Amino acid sequence: MEKTKIFLDENDMPKRWYNIQADLPKPLPPVYSPRTLKRATLEELSVIFPMEILKQEVSQERWINIPKEILDIYAVWRPSPLYRAVRLEKALKTPAKIYFKWEGVSPAGSHKPNTAVPQAYYNMKEGTQTITTETGAGQWGSALSYATSLFDITCRVYMVRVSYDQKPYRRNLIHLWGAEVFPSPSDRTNSGRSMLQEDPNHPGSLGIAISEAVEDAATHDETKYSLGSVLNHVCMHQTVLGLESKEQLKMEESYPDIVIGCVGGGSNFSGISFPFLHDKLKGDKKDLRVVAVEPYSCPTLTKGMYAFDYGDSTKLGPIAKMYTLGHDFVPPGIHAGGLRYHGDSPIVSALYDQKIIEAQAYHQNEVFEAAILFAQTEGHVLAPETAHAVKSAIEEAKKCKQTGEEKVILFSASGHGHFDLTSYELYRDGKLADYEYPAELVKQSLQRLPKIEED
Ligand SMILES: *Cc1c(COP(=O)(O)O)cnc(C)c1O
Repeated sequence: MEKTKIFLDENDMPKRWYNIQADLPKPLPPVYSPRTLKRATLEELSVIFPMEILKQEVSQERWINIPKEILDIYAVWRPSPLYRAVRLEKALKTPAKIYFKWEGVSPAGSHKPNTAVPQAYYNMKEGTQTITTETGAGQWGSALSYATSLFDITCRVYMVRVSYDQKPYRRNLIHLWGAEVFPSPSDRTNSGRSMLQEDPNHPGSLGIAISEAVEDAATHDETKYSLGSVLNHVCMHQTVLGLESKEQLKMEESYPDIVIGCVGGGSNFSGISFPFLHDKLKGDKKDLRVVAVEPYSCPTLTKGMYAFDYGDSTKLGPIAKMYTLGHDFVPPGIHAGGLRYHGDSPIVSALYDQKIIEAQAYHQNEVFEAAILFAQTEGHVLAPETAHAVKSAIEEAKKCKQTGEEKVILFSASGHGHFDLTSYELYRDGKLADYEYPAELVKQSLQRLPKIEED
Protein backbone atom coordinates (compact mmCIF):
# COMPACT_ATOMS: atom_id res chain seq x y z
CA MET A 1 0.00 0.00 0.00
CA GLU A 2 1.19 3.47 -0.76
CA LYS A 3 1.69 5.58 2.30
CA THR A 4 -0.81 8.35 2.96
CA LYS A 5 1.17 10.14 5.61
CA ILE A 6 4.76 10.04 6.66
CA PHE A 7 5.58 10.70 10.28
CA LEU A 8 8.92 11.65 11.72
CA ASP A 9 9.69 10.63 15.29
CA GLU A 10 9.66 13.43 17.85
CA ASN A 11 13.33 12.68 18.59
CA ASP A 12 14.19 13.25 14.93
CA MET A 13 12.87 16.80 14.95
CA PRO A 14 15.43 19.21 13.45
CA LYS A 15 17.62 20.70 16.22
CA ARG A 16 18.95 23.55 14.07
CA TRP A 17 17.45 26.10 11.72
CA TYR A 18 18.99 26.49 8.27
CA ASN A 19 20.22 30.00 7.45
CA ILE A 20 20.30 30.38 3.68
CA GLN A 21 22.27 33.63 3.98
CA ALA A 22 25.38 31.47 4.31
CA ASP A 23 24.78 30.09 0.82
CA LEU A 24 23.44 33.04 -1.19
CA PRO A 25 25.42 33.75 -4.36
CA LYS A 26 25.61 37.42 -3.34
CA PRO A 27 25.23 38.90 0.17
CA LEU A 28 21.93 40.72 0.80
CA PRO A 29 21.93 44.50 0.36
CA PRO A 30 22.04 46.31 3.74
CA VAL A 31 18.98 47.67 5.53
CA TYR A 32 18.52 51.45 5.72
CA SER A 33 17.08 53.73 8.37
CA PRO A 34 13.74 55.36 7.55
CA ARG A 35 14.85 58.44 9.51
CA THR A 36 18.30 59.11 8.05
CA LEU A 37 18.12 57.10 4.78
CA LYS A 38 21.59 55.86 5.80
CA ARG A 39 22.45 52.32 6.85
CA ALA A 40 20.33 51.32 9.84
CA THR A 41 22.37 50.88 13.02
CA LEU A 42 21.92 48.02 15.45
CA GLU A 43 21.21 50.59 18.14
CA GLU A 44 18.32 52.04 16.17
CA LEU A 45 16.82 48.63 15.45
CA SER A 46 17.24 47.49 19.06
CA VAL A 47 14.51 49.96 20.08
CA ILE A 48 11.97 47.62 18.51
CA PHE A 49 13.74 44.21 18.35
CA PRO A 50 15.60 42.13 20.96
CA MET A 51 19.34 41.65 20.38
CA GLU A 52 19.29 37.90 19.76
CA ILE A 53 16.71 38.39 17.00
CA LEU A 54 18.85 41.12 15.41
CA LYS A 55 21.89 38.82 15.57
CA GLN A 56 19.96 36.11 13.76
CA GLU A 57 18.72 38.65 11.22
CA VAL A 58 22.26 39.36 9.98
CA SER A 59 23.93 36.07 10.85
CA GLN A 60 25.99 34.37 8.15
CA GLU A 61 26.21 31.08 10.08
CA ARG A 62 24.68 28.25 8.08
CA TRP A 63 23.11 26.49 11.08
CA ILE A 64 21.60 28.05 14.21
CA ASN A 65 20.86 25.81 17.19
CA ILE A 66 17.27 25.74 18.38
CA PRO A 67 17.21 26.16 22.19
CA LYS A 68 15.78 23.26 24.16
CA GLU A 69 12.95 25.39 25.60
CA ILE A 70 11.76 26.06 22.04
CA LEU A 71 12.10 22.41 20.96
CA ASP A 72 9.95 21.42 23.94
CA ILE A 73 7.16 23.70 22.73
CA TYR A 74 7.63 22.74 19.06
CA ALA A 75 6.98 19.17 20.21
CA VAL A 76 3.35 20.13 20.92
CA TRP A 77 2.68 19.89 17.16
CA ARG A 78 6.02 19.07 15.51
CA PRO A 79 7.17 17.17 13.58
CA SER A 80 4.12 17.84 11.42
CA PRO A 81 2.92 15.12 9.04
CA LEU A 82 3.87 14.98 5.39
CA TYR A 83 0.96 13.71 3.32
CA ARG A 84 0.85 12.10 -0.06
CA ALA A 85 -2.24 13.49 -1.83
CA VAL A 86 -3.19 10.14 -3.36
CA ARG A 87 -6.87 10.98 -3.87
CA LEU A 88 -6.11 14.32 -5.47
CA GLU A 89 -3.65 12.59 -7.82
CA LYS A 90 -6.39 10.11 -8.76
CA ALA A 91 -8.93 12.85 -9.40
CA LEU A 92 -6.44 14.63 -11.65
CA LYS A 93 -5.43 11.36 -13.36
CA THR A 94 -1.86 12.56 -13.10
CA PRO A 95 1.27 10.41 -12.98
CA ALA A 96 2.80 13.07 -10.69
CA LYS A 97 3.26 12.37 -7.00
CA ILE A 98 1.90 15.21 -4.90
CA TYR A 99 3.11 15.65 -1.31
CA PHE A 100 2.03 18.32 1.11
CA LYS A 101 3.50 19.42 4.42
CA TRP A 102 0.57 19.93 6.76
CA GLU A 103 1.00 22.85 9.15
CA GLY A 104 -2.70 23.00 10.02
CA VAL A 105 -1.92 20.83 13.07
CA SER A 106 -0.37 23.66 15.12
CA PRO A 107 -2.45 25.23 17.93
CA ALA A 108 -3.11 28.35 15.84
CA GLY A 109 -3.70 26.25 12.72
CA SER A 110 -0.83 27.48 10.57
CA HIS A 111 2.97 27.53 10.22
CA LYS A 112 3.14 30.86 12.11
CA PRO A 113 3.76 29.46 15.62
CA ASN A 114 7.11 28.11 14.31
CA THR A 115 8.46 31.66 14.53
CA ALA A 116 6.04 33.11 17.12
CA VAL A 117 7.44 30.77 19.78
CA PRO A 118 11.14 31.59 19.25
CA GLN A 119 10.37 35.30 18.97
CA ALA A 120 8.41 35.30 22.24
CA TYR A 121 11.16 33.20 23.86
CA TYR A 122 14.03 35.56 22.91
CA ASN A 123 11.95 38.54 24.02
CA MET A 124 11.27 36.88 27.38
CA LYS A 125 15.03 36.23 27.80
CA GLU A 126 15.72 39.94 27.31
CA GLY A 127 13.01 41.16 29.66
CA THR A 128 10.38 42.35 27.19
CA GLN A 129 7.02 42.79 28.91
CA THR A 130 4.81 43.63 25.94
CA ILE A 131 5.02 42.67 22.28
CA THR A 132 3.10 44.59 19.63
CA THR A 133 2.35 43.28 16.20
CA GLU A 134 0.18 43.52 13.10
CA THR A 135 -2.01 40.82 11.65
CA GLY A 136 -3.76 40.44 8.30
CA ALA A 137 -6.24 37.57 8.34
CA GLY A 138 -5.50 37.04 12.03
CA GLN A 139 -3.27 33.99 11.61
CA TRP A 140 -0.18 35.77 12.88
CA GLY A 141 -2.01 37.62 15.64
CA SER A 142 -3.40 34.39 16.98
CA ALA A 143 -0.04 32.57 16.68
CA LEU A 144 1.78 35.31 18.57
CA SER A 145 -0.96 35.47 21.24
CA TYR A 146 -0.50 31.75 21.79
CA ALA A 147 3.29 32.12 22.01
CA THR A 148 3.28 35.14 24.33
CA SER A 149 0.80 33.39 26.63
CA LEU A 150 3.44 30.67 27.18
CA PHE A 151 5.99 33.21 28.42
CA ASP A 152 3.77 35.61 30.39
CA ILE A 153 4.24 38.44 27.91
CA THR A 154 1.44 40.89 27.14
CA CYS A 155 0.53 41.14 23.46
CA ARG A 156 -1.18 43.95 21.50
CA VAL A 157 -2.35 43.13 17.98
CA TYR A 158 -3.27 45.61 15.24
CA MET A 159 -5.54 43.75 12.85
CA VAL A 160 -6.26 44.93 9.30
CA ARG A 161 -9.78 46.33 9.43
CA VAL A 162 -11.33 44.30 6.52
CA SER A 163 -10.15 41.07 8.12
CA TYR A 164 -11.21 42.25 11.60
CA ASP A 165 -14.71 42.59 10.18
CA GLN A 166 -14.60 39.49 7.90
CA LYS A 167 -12.99 37.11 10.38
CA PRO A 168 -14.41 37.48 13.89
CA TYR A 169 -13.23 34.03 15.00
CA ARG A 170 -9.56 34.90 14.65
CA ARG A 171 -10.07 37.90 16.92
CA ASN A 172 -11.88 35.63 19.38
CA LEU A 173 -8.89 33.31 19.33
CA ILE A 174 -6.53 36.22 20.01
CA HIS A 175 -8.68 37.16 23.03
CA LEU A 176 -8.81 33.55 24.18
CA TRP A 177 -5.00 33.44 24.39
CA GLY A 178 -5.10 36.63 26.44
CA ALA A 179 -4.02 39.31 23.97
CA GLU A 180 -5.65 42.61 22.99
CA VAL A 181 -6.68 43.24 19.39
CA PHE A 182 -7.61 46.53 17.67
CA PRO A 183 -8.90 47.14 14.14
CA SER A 184 -6.29 49.02 12.10
CA PRO A 185 -6.20 51.88 11.23
CA SER A 186 -7.01 52.64 14.88
CA ASP A 187 -7.13 55.90 16.81
CA ARG A 188 -4.39 54.64 19.17
CA THR A 189 -1.43 55.84 17.10
CA ASN A 190 -0.45 58.82 14.95
CA SER A 191 -0.11 56.47 11.96
CA GLY A 192 -3.63 55.15 12.44
CA ARG A 193 -5.18 58.55 13.09
CA SER A 194 -3.66 60.03 9.92
CA MET A 195 -5.15 57.21 7.84
CA LEU A 196 -8.57 57.60 9.46
CA GLN A 197 -8.47 61.29 8.69
CA GLU A 198 -8.00 60.47 5.00
CA ASP A 199 -10.81 57.92 5.06
CA PRO A 200 -12.91 57.12 8.14
CA ASN A 201 -13.88 53.79 6.51
CA HIS A 202 -10.31 52.88 5.63
CA PRO A 203 -10.11 49.08 4.95
CA GLY A 204 -6.57 49.00 6.34
CA SER A 205 -3.55 47.17 5.02
CA LEU A 206 -0.68 45.17 6.45
CA GLY A 207 1.61 48.14 5.78
CA ILE A 208 -0.54 50.41 7.96
CA ALA A 209 -0.97 47.84 10.72
CA ILE A 210 2.81 47.40 10.83
CA SER A 211 3.22 51.18 11.19
CA GLU A 212 0.83 51.20 14.15
CA ALA A 213 2.54 48.27 15.90
CA VAL A 214 6.03 49.73 15.33
CA GLU A 215 4.92 53.13 16.63
CA ASP A 216 3.34 51.53 19.70
CA ALA A 217 6.56 49.60 20.47
CA ALA A 218 8.84 52.57 19.85
CA THR A 219 6.85 54.82 22.18
CA HIS A 220 6.51 52.43 25.16
CA ASP A 221 9.15 51.08 27.56
CA GLU A 222 9.90 47.33 27.74
CA THR A 223 7.77 47.00 24.62
CA LYS A 224 9.11 45.38 21.47
CA TYR A 225 7.69 44.74 18.06
CA SER A 226 7.43 41.42 16.29
CA LEU A 227 6.90 40.68 12.62
CA GLY A 228 5.31 37.44 11.46
CA SER A 229 6.97 37.23 8.05
CA VAL A 230 9.35 38.98 5.62
CA LEU A 231 12.44 39.26 7.84
CA ASN A 232 15.42 36.92 7.54
CA HIS A 233 15.11 35.45 11.04
CA VAL A 234 11.42 34.68 10.48
CA CYS A 235 12.14 32.85 7.23
CA MET A 236 14.91 30.96 9.01
CA HIS A 237 12.66 29.83 11.88
CA GLN A 238 10.29 28.37 9.30
CA THR A 239 12.98 26.12 7.78
CA VAL A 240 11.77 23.37 10.14
CA LEU A 241 9.14 22.79 7.43
CA GLY A 242 11.63 21.95 4.70
CA LEU A 243 14.11 20.19 6.98
CA GLU A 244 11.41 17.82 8.23
CA SER A 245 9.98 17.34 4.73
CA LYS A 246 13.41 16.38 3.45
CA GLU A 247 13.75 13.67 6.10
CA GLN A 248 10.20 12.48 5.46
CA LEU A 249 10.75 12.26 1.70
CA LYS A 250 14.00 10.42 2.34
CA MET A 251 11.96 7.78 4.18
CA GLU A 252 10.03 7.44 0.89
CA GLU A 253 13.30 7.39 -1.06
CA SER A 254 12.08 10.47 -2.82
CA TYR A 255 13.16 14.04 -3.57
CA PRO A 256 11.00 16.80 -5.08
CA ASP A 257 11.24 18.04 -8.66
CA ILE A 258 9.08 21.02 -7.80
CA VAL A 259 8.66 22.78 -4.44
CA ILE A 260 5.71 25.18 -4.12
CA GLY A 261 4.60 27.69 -1.51
CA CYS A 262 2.22 30.64 -1.40
CA VAL A 263 3.85 33.98 -0.68
CA GLY A 264 2.55 36.79 1.47
CA GLY A 265 5.75 38.03 3.08
CA GLY A 266 7.49 34.80 2.13
CA SER A 267 7.92 32.89 5.38
CA ASN A 268 6.15 29.57 4.70
CA PHE A 269 7.57 29.56 1.18
CA SER A 270 11.07 30.10 2.60
CA GLY A 271 10.46 27.44 5.21
CA ILE A 272 9.48 24.72 2.78
CA SER A 273 11.97 25.62 0.04
CA PHE A 274 15.25 26.87 1.57
CA PRO A 275 16.49 23.47 2.78
CA PHE A 276 16.00 22.16 -0.79
CA LEU A 277 17.49 25.31 -2.33
CA HIS A 278 20.53 24.55 -0.16
CA ASP A 279 21.15 21.56 -2.45
CA LYS A 280 20.51 23.58 -5.60
CA LEU A 281 22.83 26.38 -4.52
CA LYS A 282 25.53 23.78 -3.83
CA GLY A 283 25.10 22.65 -7.43
CA ASP A 284 23.62 19.26 -6.53
CA LYS A 285 20.03 19.61 -7.69
CA LYS A 286 20.31 21.90 -10.68
CA ASP A 287 16.90 20.99 -12.12
CA LEU A 288 14.92 21.61 -8.96
CA ARG A 289 12.12 24.12 -9.61
CA VAL A 290 10.93 26.30 -6.75
CA VAL A 291 7.69 28.21 -7.28
CA ALA A 292 6.32 31.14 -5.26
CA VAL A 293 2.57 31.71 -5.70
CA GLU A 294 0.82 34.99 -5.10
CA PRO A 295 -2.61 36.58 -5.69
CA TYR A 296 -3.18 38.32 -8.98
CA SER A 297 -4.54 41.35 -7.13
CA CYS A 298 -1.34 41.79 -5.07
CA PRO A 299 1.34 40.47 -7.45
CA THR A 300 4.47 41.62 -5.68
CA LEU A 301 6.97 39.34 -7.42
CA THR A 302 5.31 39.01 -10.83
CA LYS A 303 4.48 42.71 -11.30
CA GLY A 304 6.42 44.62 -8.62
CA MET A 305 9.75 46.37 -8.78
CA TYR A 306 13.00 45.21 -7.12
CA ALA A 307 13.87 48.35 -5.18
CA PHE A 308 14.53 49.79 -1.76
CA ASP A 309 11.25 50.45 0.02
CA TYR A 310 9.75 50.90 3.46
CA GLY A 311 8.32 47.81 5.08
CA ASP A 312 5.34 49.79 6.35
CA SER A 313 3.00 52.48 5.08
CA THR A 314 3.87 55.47 7.25
CA LYS A 315 7.63 55.01 6.86
CA LEU A 316 8.54 54.10 10.44
CA GLY A 317 10.03 50.70 9.75
CA PRO A 318 13.42 49.90 8.18
CA ILE A 319 13.99 50.17 4.41
CA ALA A 320 15.04 47.00 2.61
CA LYS A 321 15.65 46.00 -0.98
CA MET A 322 12.76 43.82 -2.03
CA TYR A 323 10.12 43.33 -4.66
CA THR A 324 7.48 45.92 -3.87
CA LEU A 325 4.26 47.43 -5.16
CA GLY A 326 4.97 50.59 -3.14
CA HIS A 327 4.67 51.00 0.63
CA ASP A 328 1.41 52.96 0.44
CA PHE A 329 -0.28 50.65 -2.06
CA VAL A 330 -3.49 49.28 -0.53
CA PRO A 331 -4.35 45.94 -2.19
CA PRO A 332 -7.98 44.97 -2.92
CA GLY A 333 -9.75 43.19 -0.04
CA ILE A 334 -9.34 39.61 -1.23
CA HIS A 335 -10.07 36.79 1.23
CA ALA A 336 -6.49 35.58 1.37
CA GLY A 337 -5.77 38.40 3.83
CA GLY A 338 -2.34 36.98 4.66
CA LEU A 339 -1.15 37.56 1.09
CA ARG A 340 -2.05 41.24 0.99
CA TYR A 341 1.42 42.67 1.59
CA HIS A 342 3.02 45.28 -0.67
CA GLY A 343 6.52 43.88 -0.28
CA ASP A 344 8.28 40.55 0.09
CA SER A 345 11.07 38.93 2.01
CA PRO A 346 14.44 40.42 0.92
CA ILE A 347 15.87 36.91 0.61
CA VAL A 348 12.97 35.64 -1.52
CA SER A 349 13.26 38.83 -3.59
CA ALA A 350 16.98 38.33 -4.17
CA LEU A 351 16.43 34.69 -5.18
CA TYR A 352 13.74 35.76 -7.63
CA ASP A 353 15.86 38.57 -9.01
CA GLN A 354 18.68 36.10 -9.61
CA LYS A 355 16.23 33.70 -11.31
CA ILE A 356 16.89 30.93 -8.80
CA ILE A 357 13.16 30.68 -8.09
CA GLU A 358 9.99 31.27 -10.17
CA ALA A 359 6.74 33.07 -9.41
CA GLN A 360 3.10 32.63 -10.47
CA ALA A 361 -0.08 34.62 -9.77
CA TYR A 362 -3.72 33.46 -9.65
CA HIS A 363 -7.17 35.00 -9.25
CA GLN A 364 -9.14 34.22 -6.10
CA ASN A 365 -12.01 32.33 -7.76
CA GLU A 366 -9.74 29.78 -9.45
CA VAL A 367 -7.87 29.47 -6.17
CA PHE A 368 -11.04 28.65 -4.22
CA GLU A 369 -12.06 26.18 -6.91
CA ALA A 370 -8.74 24.37 -6.40
CA ALA A 371 -9.17 24.40 -2.61
CA ILE A 372 -12.62 22.84 -2.93
CA LEU A 373 -11.27 20.06 -5.17
CA PHE A 374 -8.61 19.53 -2.52
CA ALA A 375 -11.19 19.42 0.30
CA GLN A 376 -13.35 16.98 -1.66
CA THR A 377 -10.43 14.65 -2.33
CA GLU A 378 -8.00 15.09 0.57
CA GLY A 379 -10.51 16.25 3.17
CA HIS A 380 -8.56 19.12 4.67
CA VAL A 381 -10.07 22.59 4.35
CA LEU A 382 -7.22 24.93 3.54
CA ALA A 383 -6.74 28.59 4.37
CA PRO A 384 -7.39 30.80 1.31
CA GLU A 385 -3.68 31.72 1.38
CA THR A 386 -2.65 28.07 1.21
CA ALA A 387 -5.15 27.49 -1.58
CA HIS A 388 -2.82 29.47 -3.88
CA ALA A 389 -0.15 26.80 -3.44
CA VAL A 390 -2.68 24.03 -4.15
CA LYS A 391 -3.80 25.76 -7.31
CA SER A 392 -0.22 25.82 -8.53
CA ALA A 393 0.42 22.18 -7.51
CA ILE A 394 -2.69 21.13 -9.43
CA GLU A 395 -1.58 23.04 -12.53
CA GLU A 396 1.87 21.42 -12.38
CA ALA A 397 0.28 17.97 -11.92
CA LYS A 398 -1.93 18.58 -14.95
CA LYS A 399 1.14 19.39 -17.03
CA CYS A 400 2.58 16.04 -15.94
CA LYS A 401 -0.57 14.37 -17.18
CA GLN A 402 0.05 15.83 -20.61
CA THR A 403 3.72 14.92 -20.72
CA GLY A 404 3.41 11.63 -18.83
CA GLU A 405 6.16 12.68 -16.42
CA GLU A 406 6.10 11.22 -12.89
CA LYS A 407 7.32 14.36 -11.22
CA VAL A 408 7.42 14.70 -7.44
CA ILE A 409 5.61 17.84 -6.37
CA LEU A 410 5.89 19.12 -2.80
CA PHE A 411 3.83 22.02 -1.52
CA SER A 412 3.51 23.78 1.78
CA ALA A 413 0.00 23.37 3.22
CA SER A 414 0.54 26.38 5.44
CA GLY A 415 -2.74 26.36 7.35
CA HIS A 416 -6.34 25.29 7.75
CA GLY A 417 -9.33 27.36 6.76
CA HIS A 418 -11.74 26.57 9.57
CA PHE A 419 -12.19 30.26 10.28
CA ASP A 420 -12.52 31.12 6.60
CA LEU A 421 -15.72 29.25 5.88
CA THR A 422 -17.58 32.49 5.14
CA SER A 423 -15.18 33.04 2.25
CA TYR A 424 -15.83 29.52 0.95
CA GLU A 425 -19.57 30.17 1.15
CA LEU A 426 -19.22 33.45 -0.75
CA TYR A 427 -17.29 31.61 -3.43
CA ARG A 428 -20.04 28.96 -3.69
CA ASP A 429 -22.63 31.70 -3.99
CA GLY A 430 -20.67 33.27 -6.84
CA LYS A 431 -20.06 36.40 -4.79
CA LEU A 432 -16.27 36.64 -4.93
CA ALA A 433 -14.84 39.28 -7.23
CA ASP A 434 -11.70 38.67 -9.29
CA TYR A 435 -9.85 41.94 -8.97
CA GLU A 436 -7.79 43.08 -11.89
CA TYR A 437 -4.29 44.14 -11.04
CA PRO A 438 -4.54 47.84 -10.12
CA ALA A 439 -1.70 48.91 -12.40
CA GLU A 440 -2.31 52.65 -12.13
CA LEU A 441 -2.33 52.68 -8.31
CA VAL A 442 0.88 50.68 -8.21
CA LYS A 443 2.52 53.00 -10.71
CA GLN A 444 1.67 55.99 -8.53
CA SER A 445 2.79 54.24 -5.38
CA LEU A 446 6.12 53.26 -6.95
CA GLN A 447 6.84 56.94 -7.56
CA ARG A 448 7.04 57.41 -3.81
CA LEU A 449 9.89 54.95 -3.14
CA PRO A 450 12.65 56.28 -0.87
CA LYS A 451 15.77 57.51 -2.62
CA ILE A 452 18.61 55.44 -1.24
CA GLU A 453 22.22 56.11 -2.13
CA GLU A 454 23.89 52.73 -1.83
CA ASP A 455 27.28 52.84 -0.15
C1 LIG B 1 0.21 34.25 7.02
C2 LIG B 1 -0.06 33.11 6.19
C3 LIG B 1 0.48 33.00 4.90
C4 LIG B 1 1.32 34.07 4.26
O1 LIG B 1 2.46 34.44 4.97
P1 LIG B 1 3.91 33.97 4.54
O2 LIG B 1 4.80 34.69 5.48
O3 LIG B 1 4.12 34.38 3.12
O4 LIG B 1 3.97 32.52 4.73
C5 LIG B 1 0.22 31.86 4.17
N1 LIG B 1 -0.57 30.87 4.66
C6 LIG B 1 -1.12 30.95 5.90
C7 LIG B 1 -1.97 29.85 6.37
C8 LIG B 1 -0.88 32.07 6.70
O5 LIG B 1 -1.40 32.13 7.90
